[in-house]
Amino acid sequence: MPLLEIIGITSTEMIFCVRFVYLKSECADNFTWALQMLKEDITGGEVEVIVTDRYLALMNAVEYVFPKADNLLCLFHICKNVKAKCKMTVFPKKKQVQIMGAWEALVYSYDEAQYYMNLANFEGICSSSSIFNDYKHDQWLIPHKERFVETWTNRVMHFGNTTTQRVESVHWSLKRILQDSIGDICNVWETINSMIVLQHSEIIASFENSIIQKVHRHSNRLYANLHGVVSKNAIDHIAAEFDRMKYVGIDKFECRCTVRRTHGLPCACEIARYNMISRSIPLDVIYVRWTKLIFHDDGSGKPSELSMKHEIEVIVKKFDELDVLGKIALKGKLREIAYPSTSSMCPLVDKVKTKGAPKKGKSNVSKRNKSTKCHSSWWEYVDASVRCSGTNTCSTVTSNKVQQPRSSVKKRTPRTSVSKIQ
Ligand SMILES: [Zn+2]
Repeated sequence: MPLLEIIGITSTEMIFCVRFVYLKSECADNFTWALQMLKEDITGGEVEVIVTDRYLALMNAVEYVFPKADNLLCLFHICKNVKAKCKMTVFPKKKQVQIMGAWEALVYSYDEAQYYMNLANFEGICSSSSIFNDYKHDQWLIPHKERFVETWTNRVMHFGNTTTQRVESVHWSLKRILQDSIGDICNVWETINSMIVLQHSEIIASFENSIIQKVHRHSNRLYANLHGVVSKNAIDHIAAEFDRMKYVGIDKFECRCTVRRTHGLPCACEIARYNMISRSIPLDVIYVRWTKLIFHDDGSGKPSELSMKHEIEVIVKKFDELDVLGKIALKGKLREIAYPSTSSMCPLVDKVKTKGAPKKGKSNVSKRNKSTKCHSSWWEYVDASVRCSGTNTCSTVTSNKVQQPRSSVKKRTPRTSVSKIQ
């Protein structure tokens, strides 16, 4: 029974599986059922772009279930098929190379004028090979060119996905883990579940990376509104357009504005205009998907606001799992963040003489003050006093003055214990 994976793309370009289904056979009815199940999971019930191979039963099912979606065809597999047909029907080899070069120029044509110019060139080269000529016309160019030639695919927001190679890669990984196709449903379920849990963690990590990490080369004023609220991958795309801007300027014709249409991000000519008036790129020109850095969807469609809810939950959970020393260390770290004006360094009680050599003879410095043992941190004093509250023997905290407890903090918490929770 074949296993069909349905893949979705996050705003951060991470690939993840949204559904796994077993199909008795790969017929249109089964594909339709699988896609209908998927549709029920999608907010709004619609998708904008679906990339498939040229498998007519699947394409028909896509058209039936998602009539508004653009069904692109995998460019990688089309090129492989065309090359194979060329090898079988065109001779000598030199001619094959010539044809495939012209084919590549054709499929990457950026507008219709260039497409028809490249098509004339391509047909001129293929004219003497009638079988191949009919094949590329009947199988690909006439019925499907809008689904794989860049002239047309660059008009839809596909986020850079014009092949199914990513799906193949995930499919291969899953098959490798499953090892064979005769496992019982419980084992398969567990394997797939583990895979989903892992990808969930990876997506959260990518979100956190986008929120926290600031890349030095993106410290330009242009990106000021984007850091922490827009996917890092989106900023990388914008940075590439910023580099193009140096050659393109504000000329829309030169720019072609492909990234604006395919990714929903500012293209080179747009960035040039913001740059001219010394303005940062506004957040509202970024397609909303790039600003989704959390799983929760409030349904507003607006850029998600930064929240620490998830981080706080993780910290509380980790705190519960730690031993006493770990808890003290974590609590101290958090206090330093929560009360930055409060230093963990304690002020000296007496003024230190900095001039002149110390007098010889009996020293006034007590043995205790000669000790190389570090002073306890401020939070350790506080913790000690909190732990001892309720007993009359321990020191108390009053206003700005913190008295050192006598023996309540004997062990110093090793700093490295913090690393356990990082
Ligand atoms: Zn542009």
